Amino acid sequence: MKNETNASKKGDKMNNAKRTDVHRPSEILPENYDLLTYTYKGPDPFLQMEAGSERKIFMAHMKSHPGAGFFNKENETGGCSICGAHFSFGAIFYHRDSNRYIEIGWICAMKMDSSLDGAAFRNWKDRIKNGAEVRAGKNKAREILEAHDLRFAWEVFETPYEEGSKKFEFAWKSFDILVDMVSKLVRYGTWSDNQFEFAEKLIHRLQAGPPPAPKAGEFVGTIKNREFFTATLKVLTGYESMYGWTSVFIFEDADGNTLIWKTTSEPSFGFNEPKGKTFRFKATVKDHSEYKGRNQTILTRLSDIEEVKPETDPTGSGSKIVELPKTGIEVEVKRNLHHIVGPAAIV
Ligand SMILES: [Zn+2]
Repeated sequence: MKNETNASKKGDKMNNAKRTDVHRPSEILPENYDLLTYTYKGPDPFLQMEAGSERKIFMAHMKSHPGAGFFNKENETGGCSICGAHFSFGAIFYHRDSNRYIEIGWICAMKMDSSLDGAAFRNWKDRIKNGAEVRAGKNKAREILEAHDLRFAWEVFETPYEEGSKKFEFAWKSFDILVDMVSKLVRYGTWSDNQFEFAEKLIHRLQAGPPPAPKAGEFVGTIKNREFFTATLKVLTGYESMYGWTSVFIFEDADGNTLIWKTTSEPSFGFNEPKGKTFRFKATVKDHSEYKGRNQTILTRLSDIEEVKPETDPTGSGSKIVELPKTGIEVEVKRNLHHIVGPAAIV
């Protein structure tokens, strides 16, 4: 477009005096033309890429107008179809009567169409320049990440957000932060040492993958048998029923199998914080059932309950019977349960 300031000189070179076409400056009737697209014909490959989307609009128009083609294609000078000047930023207009396109520089384009008030053109130029800058920033960011062995961060950034948030659902926050960090690297072109370190942590987190799914576990014991079990109390919950408050004890044995004991009577080890403690006890196997993909061994009539303290005696052989006063303890446990899980909770 710098060259187009010499439009009249270039126009002379195009020998306007000999021209007989309708597009020559002295004859052109702007009302017979439609603005189709903006074009970029300069050397910057980034700008060329960004302007590429405009090309699609033009191709679509061509497809719906059989026989349409460029004016003066045989003597294509590469310059403006009206004045002959070379240009970087221009526009394609469609001449309805001749079914021909003219590609012209932005100065002639603004004369052609009053709607091209300059602002629209500047917006377009800014848009493709910004797009090109973003593209250049992305290239630089990718190079920086690769140089720091953080290529994974780039892959995460390039994953469509919906897909990525699903894929990294197990560490959604880490995913979100990393995407934001890379987008800032694209914008500002640099990270601090702390940011590099932090990104590395986030990457490790995402690469670690989701935690292994809980195992289904096995059924233990034989239904109707009365046997000894050793298991750790994992969850203590309960619910209100027509029989009153039912306490639910969920145990897990050393192999990760689930044992459930529901009781409306007073838990014989109803001391304050039984959760996390391991017990050896006698119980009758009432049932083997499944709940949410987990195999559960349902127990009843627990007795001979003793706490196993592995830190003092790893074999458990020296464990002692837990003896606790019964009075008042049930009330205490129930109140805690209500407080923790509420009456609606059910296993
Ligand atoms: Zn021109």
